[in-house]
Amino acid sequence: MSFDYDLFVIGGGSGGVRAARVAAQRGVKVALAEEDRYGGTCVIRGCVPKKLMVFASEYAGMVEDAQAYGWDLSPGSFDWDRFKTKLHAELDRLEGIYRGILENNSVETFDQRAKLADAHTVELADGTRKTAKHILIATGGWPVTPEFPGSELAITSNEIFHLEKLPETMLIVGGGYIACEFAGIMNGLGVKTTQYYRGAQILRGFDDEARGLISEEMCQSGVDLHLGTNVLEMRKEGDKIWVKATNGDENLFDQVMFATGRSPNADGLGLEELGIERDRAGAIVVDQYSQTGVPSVYAVGDVTNRVNLTPVAIREGMAFVETVFAGNPTSPDHELIPTAIFTQPEMGTVGLSEEAAAEQEEIEVYATSFKPMQQAFAGRAQRVLMKLIVSKATRKVLGCHIVAPGAGEMIQLAGIAVKMGATKEDFDRTVAVHPTMSEELVTMKTPVRTA
Ligand code: NDP
Repeated sequence: MSFDYDLFVIGGGSGGVRAARVAAQRGVKVALAEEDRYGGTCVIRGCVPKKLMVFASEYAGMVEDAQAYGWDLSPGSFDWDRFKTKLHAELDRLEGIYRGILENNSVETFDQRAKLADAHTVELADGTRKTAKHILIATGGWPVTPEFPGSELAITSNEIFHLEKLPETMLIVGGGYIACEFAGIMNGLGVKTTQYYRGAQILRGFDDEARGLISEEMCQSGVDLHLGTNVLEMRKEGDKIWVKATNGDENLFDQVMFATGRSPNADGLGLEELGIERDRAGAIVVDQYSQTGVPSVYAVGDVTNRVNLTPVAIREGMAFVETVFAGNPTSPDHELIPTAIFTQPEMGTVGLSEEAAAEQEEIEVYATSFKPMQQAFAGRAQRVLMKLIVSKATRKVLGCHIVAPGAGEMIQLAGIAVKMGATKEDFDRTVAVHPTMSEELVTMKTPVRTA
């Protein structure tokens, strides 16, 4: 049977574009459909614009530090319009690069929604049908918000990059990556920021000591964080939003943002009709090779809800191409993934938290928290954390957790050692780079506790 294409990719985000490109570079005939902008969540409404906003939000603090270092500077004010125009020009440029990658590799693109019509057929929004030997679904995820009276007044991380003006006051709801990152961003930009999180401590699932320090530092830097608190009710009051909280507080905010999780983008793709299974979270169920129950249909990235990170979606996309088009069955490796959370201070983490490791085996904990030189000199009370979790039996470093400016950069490198199976003694025999914050990772001699 002959097909229009060897591969049809649905979704032009990180995972889909990478799979399309590497498949096309192997001489495979590829098409890709994207209903929105090319680049997906990461480039258009996630990692990239978020990180640029983190950078923007850190300058006020830098000016204060510079004053302490003897510079005659004053902070001035932040011009949201000027930043936003430049931000969106940059996103346009990046989207152009994504489109260029596809074009330069002869991937045929369709700027419209696509869904499955059968195991080898994709139906485009205009009714056109295309056949393919293999179909890859890489449609990502989408923010989800709870529903209650007035909840429609809130925005999500999708809208935050398009605000007409910077609010004077803002409520952020949630305690995950997105909520905590944006609490820091908004606070840094001068917005009076309140954060409600329903649980006992933000960043559930990460190392307790690390998230405790981030929480303290966020409060110290001005975020009005309320733990054990959620929104009950909201309504419009003039140009503000009135919010009633579970702790009885009633407040007015200029903006409310919900960062209450994301859901796989798998509705209306024709999956049910084809018998492709979805789990309770709505994610497409795939095997270790990203294959669905229908052998010609694969799925990668957030739509499969495995580890929802851009570099992971990219790896899954490449493993799919290696498996299907190189005849070399390859499973994406989901073990020991280093990651960063761009809170202020930043967290870099790889491997097990102290709590998870202690459940698994006997461990030694090496940790130090101190005021780093650069900020201490400037008179900031800010503390950082360097922490290693070590297996008593194998001496392997099971987890490394860093809370510090630049922690994302540090954990990328520490992640290599941990991924290689480095022991505490391997860390110890590495000479310290002095004076740095991360030298503490190779100079901690005595465990602070064992468990
Ligand atoms: P998360 O799942 O990390 O966090 C959702 C938060 O919302 C949790 O604190 C959760 O509370 C809370 N929540 C859920 N439902 C409700 C509700 N009904 N009412 C109040 N609170 C609620 O999702 P995010 O949206 O923050 O991030 C999604 C994913 O995106 C992450 O898992 C991550 O993989 C990725 N991401 C990665 C980044 C990075 O690498 N730096 C940055 C941003 C996103 P509870 O803990 O009680 O469940």
